[in-house]
Parts: sequence; C-alpha cells; structure tokens
Amino acid sequence: MTTEQSTSRNDTLFARAQQSTPGGVNSPVRAFRSVGGTPRFIERAKGPHFWDADGKRYIDYIGSWGPAILGHARSEVVEAVQAAAANGLSFGAPTEGEIEIAEEICRLLPSIEQVRLVSSGTEATMSALRLARGATGRDKIVKFEGCYHGHADSLLVKAGSGLLTFGNPTSAGVPEDFVKHTLVLDYNNVPQLEDAFASMGDTIACVIVEPVAGNMNLIRATPEFLQRMRELCTEHGAVLIFDEVMCGFRVGLEGAQGMYGITPDLTALGKVIGGGMPVAAFGGRADLMQKMAPIGPVYQAGTLSGNPVAVAAGMTTLKLIQEEGFYEKLTATADRLVTGLTAAAQEAGIDFCGDSVGGMFGFYFSKDVPSSYSEMMAGDKERFNRFFHGMLEEGVYFAPAMFEAGFVSIQHDDAVIDATIEAARRVFKRIG
Ligand SMILES: *Cc1c(COP(=O)(O)O)cnc(C)c1O
Repeated sequence: MTTEQSTSRNDTLFARAQQSTPGGVNSPVRAFRSVGGTPRFIERAKGPHFWDADGKRYIDYIGSWGPAILGHARSEVVEAVQAAAANGLSFGAPTEGEIEIAEEICRLLPSIEQVRLVSSGTEATMSALRLARGATGRDKIVKFEGCYHGHADSLLVKAGSGLLTFGNPTSAGVPEDFVKHTLVLDYNNVPQLEDAFASMGDTIACVIVEPVAGNMNLIRATPEFLQRMRELCTEHGAVLIFDEVMCGFRVGLEGAQGMYGITPDLTALGKVIGGGMPVAAFGGRADLMQKMAPIGPVYQAGTLSGNPVAVAAGMTTLKLIQEEGFYEKLTATADRLVTGLTAAAQEAGIDFCGDSVGGMFGFYFSKDVPSSYSEMMAGDKERFNRFFHGMLEEGVYFAPAMFEAGFVSIQHDDAVIDATIEAARRVFKRIG
C-alpha cells in the first residue's frame, strides 16, 4: 500500500464516481475490470482523438463502441443537433424528422419495409423478439454463444449442460423460468443448428444472430452458416432476426445482410444510426411490422422514441456515410491498422493475428483468427492486458477487454494509423 496521494484527476474522479455509482461507471466494460487500472474520464473529443481528465490525448479505437463512424464532434452533426435542440427537445408527438430517417433506413436496407424507432439496441432486439413470438405464436428462441443482443432478461443466458438443452441465466435477478425458452448454440456450427431445427423446428419463434459478431472480439459468420440459417427459418416458419446494432452501416452501407446477400425477416439497428445519440430501431417485413401496436397486438412504446434531437444526429450521420468512397476508405483504414499491427507483432515474435470487416476490426493473441466463442476465449488474455496498458501509456485507447471489437472512423488517416503501429512496435518489444 502506498500512502502517496495520486495527482491524477482520473484517479480522483474514479474514487468519487464509485461513491455515487456502482463501480463508478454507467456501463460495466468502461470500468477496466478486465484489464485492471483506472478508467479514463473523457473531457472532450475531436476526429480520431479524445482527451482525458489529465489532459492526455488518445487515439480512440472504440468510437463510443461503434457510433462515432464520422469521427468525434463532426461539425455537420453538431450543427444539426444544435439546430434541432433550439426547436425543443422532445414533444411526445410525431415529427417529420422521424419519417425522414425511417424512409432513409428503408431505402438503404431493402429487407426493411417498415421500421420502428427506439432509444437503445437493447430495446430494439427485445422488441424484435417479442414481435417474432407474437407473430408466430411460439415461445422458443435461438441465440448463439458469444453474441450480445443487449440485456433483456431472456438473452442473459448461457448454454445448458446438454447439447440441445435450454439455457441458464448469466445474471443474478433473471429467473430460470425467463430463459427456459432460450436455446444457446455455437456460432458457425451448422450441424448443431440443423439438429436443433430437426428436433424442435416447429416450436422455434426466431433465430437471432450477429451476422458479423462484434461482442466476442470480431468473428465473422461463415456464409454457409447464415445461408443454412435462412433456409431452416423459412422451412420451419421461424423468424430470422439479424442483430445489426453493431455491424449495420459499420461493415458497409448495406450492412452485413448486403455483404452476405441474405435477407433477414427482421433487423435490429443502433449505434451508427444515432451518430452518438440514443437512436436505435427494428424493422423488416411489412406483414410482421403491421403486428405492432397501435395497429397490431404486439405492444411496444417509448417516451423518447424518435427523439427529434437524436434523430437529427442520426439522419445527418446517415447522409454523410453515403459520400463517394466512404466505405472503401474506412475498409482500407481498418485493414492498414490490422496489417501493420500483425507485422509489428511478428517482428517481436509474438503470436498475434487480426481481421477487419469495413470499419470494424479485431486482433487476437493467438496463431489463428477464431471462428467461435471458445476459440476466441483461448487467446492470451494476460498478454492482451499488457498490450492494452502499454498502448494506453503510448496514447492509444483500444477496448479495455480482449473480448471486444475495435472501430475506426473516417478521420483515422494514414498518419494516425502509422503512429499507432509505431507505438505498437515499441509495446510488442516490451511485452515479447
Ligand atoms: C451494443 C449492442 C446491443 C445493445 O445496444 P445498447 O444500445 O447498448 O442497448 C445489441 N446488439 C448488439 C449486436 C450490440 O453490439
């Protein structure tokens, strides 16, 4: 124990935050529990950078966990927010802005014929599940280990002991009864999915999947996995839900569904579509969406749904990502980062590899890119943690856990990427 007083404002703020808020944070991964140390309290951000309470600048590779695709505090977005705010913050009555963003989402993602706006990804997936159950009259849902779909009760679940047995809660406060209809299968495991449908297909309301998984580091679905999922859902009358809260408008303008050429029945969106403000959405086939209240029997609502200020940020973001060459540049940026990091690790003789899809990336302290949750978990966590802290010291902020994907913005230019790779070269030498 040291008796020395820390002079770091981050330390002071963290100590203070823990008095009024559990763990000092409003969302768990911000707390650095996985990597240890003091979370950085952010004061401001611009482009690819943010600054903490000690005035230290970081190259930011979390981008608010996805939304900051244009870079931080992009002037067009800030101005749209200011203009909307000047006209009132929230009305609890419809606005034209909500129609505009709904039309834009439907135009960009052809699988979405109708859409409903909500305020968080959790609400979007929770409501999509309710709709799938309401529309099919079935209770069972299928999810995959390592995919995150927000924190609705029936989704906080891990696989049961038997191969096709139903799940166990992963959080206190979730009754076993609430997850007894949730089947948890292995990501990218086609035979297991086929078995599940063979034995109980006609009782499955829906399958929900991250088509590019970004909550177990970055793991791509294989095309066969998604293709077979689509076929099985169609054959058995189950609803296919793509959770594109993270990968939508992140891997490309048409989302993962465009990239794989697969049409889901329902899609959940969030993150990028709010441009840093609380906007999320679920939408899809009109015949399904017509089952929503007020015209159908499936209830769902929200005081701040379609909030005019948030929608202004989202709509401006959706316009700017359609600029010529946007995704080519974003893709090249993430690729340059991953290629550079991998080469730097190799020079230091460290087992390391990486992958990226559009503006999302993952890197792994293992020989091969993982294709499932268990493979991802086998990575060298201890070495990741040393790398994370080494990079943080160098002024580079990666996600503070090995189990998270990373994100670049359109303002991460070559100089920023190259500075990151140079820093990594120094850190790999120290941890080699
Ligand atoms: C972030 C995320 C969610 C939850 O969104 P919140 O806005 O945090 O509630 C759901 N699904 C996926 C794939 C996500 O990445």
